[in-house]
Amino acid sequence: MASHTTSQTYDVAVIGAGVFGAWTAYSLQKSGASVVLLDAYGPANARASSGGESRIIRMGYGAAEVFTRWSMHALPLWKELFAQVGRPELFQQTGVLWIAHEGEPYALATLETLARAGTQFEKLSHEDLSRRYPQIVFDSDSWGIFEPQSGVLMARRAVQAVVAEAQKFGVAYKAEAALTPSGDGRLKEIATANGSTISAASFVFACGPWLPKVFPELLGGRIFPTRQEIFFFGVPSGDTRFAPPSMPTWLQMRDEFYGMPDLESRGFKIAHDHHGPLVDPDAQSRTATPEAITAAKEFLARRFPALKDAPIVESRVCQYENTSSGDFLIDRHPSFENVWLVGGGSGHGFKHGPSAGEYAAARVTGKTSAALPIDPRFSLATKQTMQQRAVF
Ligand SMILES: Cc1cc2nc3c(=O)[nH]c(=O)nc-3n(C[C@H](O)[C@H](O)[C@H](O)COP(=O)(O)OP(=O)(O)OC[C@H]3O[C@@H](n4cnc5c(N)ncnc54)[C@H](O)[C@@H]3O)c2cc1C
Repeated sequence: MASHTTSQTYDVAVIGAGVFGAWTAYSLQKSGASVVLLDAYGPANARASSGGESRIIRMGYGAAEVFTRWSMHALPLWKELFAQVGRPELFQQTGVLWIAHEGEPYALATLETLARAGTQFEKLSHEDLSRRYPQIVFDSDSWGIFEPQSGVLMARRAVQAVVAEAQKFGVAYKAEAALTPSGDGRLKEIATANGSTISAASFVFACGPWLPKVFPELLGGRIFPTRQEIFFFGVPSGDTRFAPPSMPTWLQMRDEFYGMPDLESRGFKIAHDHHGPLVDPDAQSRTATPEAITAAKEFLARRFPALKDAPIVESRVCQYENTSSGDFLIDRHPSFENVWLVGGGSGHGFKHGPSAGEYAAARVTGKTSAALPIDPRFSLATKQTMQQRAVF
């Protein structure tokens, strides 16, 4: 392809149109900046971490109150955007059920945080759980937390809606892969794989699991992309027990599995939250492994016995982009005064897209968001080279 240079200099170039980059571009444009948004493979593409069908939005985060508050801030912004584009179905208010066991510290801390933050929730006893959800097998020491306002974001389509809306407000979108910038100080432009150059006053690299490939020296040992496998099981014909309102979205804390009810007749979704092996997001195989299939079927038969013979109707393979702790990375590049790094969603970032975008836009423009004050959790300095997951 012939190389060319855009004559326009944008206020901000955002590289990566996953959930973080899309919302950052949207927030910046709404604040009055001129923005160009690039993606190598397309907004919420099949390789991206945001490219799944569905993602949970919940308020519970143990003692990590900042994430409860970010999530509470994000949900109305998601709903507002979906209303604006006439697609309210991109949020499904299924409710979210935490299935805990006696003495589980994370769940106990969640109760306290939810109460302090003033969000709606119910504490459920073992008896309540068994009465409400007879289709689930609970251990005798199980108890629950139910978040009635929470649910599921239809992820891939939600990001595409944000990008389309951002374009309506004036964001220029380009299907381009940015090359790693070189030098230091003030970056004037970036080159793309097609041979173009893009000039801007500031640059935001929101490249998700690709961040360690774009900045290998800086982030190679600080963001860990791990393979994650997801399964959709076909529910028996006419059986409403596995669809809303009978079945909420759930997180089974003892087994580290989570799942969603049958939405849009796609199937009953389950996934293991345990981090898989390190992978390359460009090249990893997207075919499910026999081990993960066996583990998912074993879990399903044990906890949802009516689905023990349910067929897998779809599988997806994605990657988490973990930081050492699970805290996001939203900070300036140490070598460039006008380059920002936005990522490290760590398997729980999707729901926070609107908050991450607002926070990142405020950092880039030198403002502070009253609702989302600067937090050292999101700094590069707190990102270690050893994984010690602390945020779930
Ligand atoms: C299986 C799975 C389940 C999850 N479940 C949940 C959940 O239930 N709830 C929740 O809140 N979160 C969840 N997450 C986490 C969440 O999906 C991610 O944290 C989030 O999507 C990350 O978004 P991102 O924008 O940082 O990255 P991505 O979505 O990966 O976007 C990065 C984009 O950058 C582009 N790009 C990369 N390099 C370049 C380049 N050089 N030039 C141009 N473009 C480039 C890519 O093409 C890509 O589109 C889950 C993640 C996975 C994988």
